Amino acid sequence: MPTPPRELIAAFRHRARKSLGQNFLTDAGVLQAIAEAARLGPETTVLEVGPGPGVLTQELLARAGAVVAVEKDPRSVAFLGGAYLDLVAGAANLRVIEGDALTVDLDAALAGASDLVAVGNLPFNVGTAIMNRLLAQPDRWRRWVFMFQREVARRLTAEPDSKAYGSLSLAVQSRARVQPVVDVPPEAFVPAPQIHAGVVLFDLEGPPSVPLALQPSFDRVVRSAFATRRKTLRNNLKRIFGDETDAVLDTAGVDGRKRPEQLPLAAFAALAQVVEDRNTD
Ligand code: SAM
Repeated sequence: MPTPPRELIAAFRHRARKSLGQNFLTDAGVLQAIAEAARLGPETTVLEVGPGPGVLTQELLARAGAVVAVEKDPRSVAFLGGAYLDLVAGAANLRVIEGDALTVDLDAALAGASDLVAVGNLPFNVGTAIMNRLLAQPDRWRRWVFMFQREVARRLTAEPDSKAYGSLSLAVQSRARVQPVVDVPPEAFVPAPQIHAGVVLFDLEGPPSVPLALQPSFDRVVRSAFATRRKTLRNNLKRIFGDETDAVLDTAGVDGRKRPEQLPLAAFAALAQVVEDRNTD
């Protein structure tokens, strides 16, 4: 039986630090939903970002072979390596590294680990920066399950023709298949944050929808296409293609009269392919 989250938080005995984005999850249903979405098994090593008092960590330990946790707060590192060991079954399979997930040496932290999954109730202020860092090495991972503030979660999983769809949606969806897992209200945490959160599953197995070699051109096209949302794609793309814009759109088979948010990922990939072909001609 897992130790109730509130008991772990009480045993941690420290005040949550706002500067570290510390809002601890107390809702057992949400904690289990995150761990279940990660589809862990005895072969899996989990990188947990920001374990805090270990409320999510114990759900991961119950399902995975090993957990490597990176935590910036030395108070949490001391707790997880001390009192926590008597409170949580399987805590011997936990290795805690004190460090910043934005800079920690991940090669050293994860040396020898296979079947890698990353999970984290990420601090809201650095969530996307941590995700972008991990995205730089997509082949390393099978999947991730991360919590973000709800607006960011909506943008990550947005589809065309929605307000949330934009360059963040495309940057991530070109590299991973994404899916919303669960919305999390403020009451699920102590202390309760001012905002809602959302959990997102990223599936990184198999080839990305945009091949790695094409991604720099894809990112460039997407950035230009969304430079001004109210403009048509054609007008936005003029910034990079100038007089060649119509020829590029024709070759890619993309309707430049549409607004960027109306176009699927495949349209931006087709434009990126034209850019590549022109560069190699
Ligand atoms: N996992 C716990 C939970 O679900 O309740 C705590 C989540 S809390 C939102 C975020 C955690 O990330 C805190 O423990 C905080 O100290 C830690 N943290 C903040 N910035 C970090 C960083 N740059 N690198 C690693 N951990 C960080």
